[in-house]
Amino acid sequence: MNLFMKNDINLSFTDTKEITKIYPDNKKNIFKQSENYHIFFCEGLILTKKIKNKFKITFFNKKNSLFNYINKTVYFGKFKDKHIFIHNISLEEKTKTSLKQVKFFNKKIKKEKISRSSFSDLRTIFANLSIKDSSIAGIAKSLINWKLTNTFCTKCGEKFANPINFKWETQCIACKKIYFPRVDPVIIVIVVKGNKVLIGRSHHFPKKLYSCLAGFIELGETLETAARREILEEVGVYINDIKFITNQPWPFPSSLMFGLIAKAKNKKLKVDKNEIEDAFWISKQELKQVLNGKNNNIIAAREGTIARFLLEKWVKNEI
Ligand SMILES: [Zn+2]
Repeated sequence: MNLFMKNDINLSFTDTKEITKIYPDNKKNIFKQSENYHIFFCEGLILTKKIKNKFKITFFNKKNSLFNYINKTVYFGKFKDKHIFIHNISLEEKTKTSLKQVKFFNKKIKKEKISRSSFSDLRTIFANLSIKDSSIAGIAKSLINWKLTNTFCTKCGEKFANPINFKWETQCIACKKIYFPRVDPVIIVIVVKGNKVLIGRSHHFPKKLYSCLAGFIELGETLETAARREILEEVGVYINDIKFITNQPWPFPSSLMFGLIAKAKNKKLKVDKNEIEDAFWISKQELKQVLNGKNNNIIAAREGTIARFLLEKWVKNEI
């Protein structure tokens, strides 16, 4: 089995092979070079263009009035021949609520005919982006979010200065400690028992949506021990024969999902309602219908997600 089964199915956020981190000359004005491209975020939303039912990231390589509202910049890297910079824009007035800010900028873009774009939620649109655009958008979202929420040194308490090199890492000017954007590892498991698999839903999931069970990896755990603990905690099922299938960066806010398949030793479920809302065993035939959208009560994890990938592979007898 190929260890990294990428690109044989639409797995969002996974195509980063053309991205390189070559830091540009920071003495030059980054806004005055036509080979530099700029992506914008506001309140965690990314500026995109909608073309029919597909979305594309909006890249600017010329200045417009949005550039006057930048409060944070990070250098993303080089994609093919473009240097990409990520910017967050914000209004100074603290009275504006987040929704009002987004509205303000969306209106401005339209009124000034800056672009036929608007700010949208990556979580809603990622399946309608190309895999390449979703990969750029995912990194950009995690990176700008990390920069905006990590503003003080946890070693000495100093406030971080706005770095002029726009690098991913942040260095404290006082104690020189360097911080790198964090990645949180998560396991997601398709648990099989004969002709059935286990699907479940969290309290925060959209209505009717079911997925594979998942959880954060804790200190000192391997992928296998994390999977064993999570599945036992959530549904009271012991698992064995755990195998790695594939992985996916998940930028909400910054996880790496390890997709595993495992066999259940017992069938009886003891669902911990504090952890998840519901879980049950579903047969291959029933799951096929769910994946084809032919079940009125259940919706499967969306296209582009690792959960969907695992469920589809299992239905097709490919894992
Ligand atoms: Zn410090």
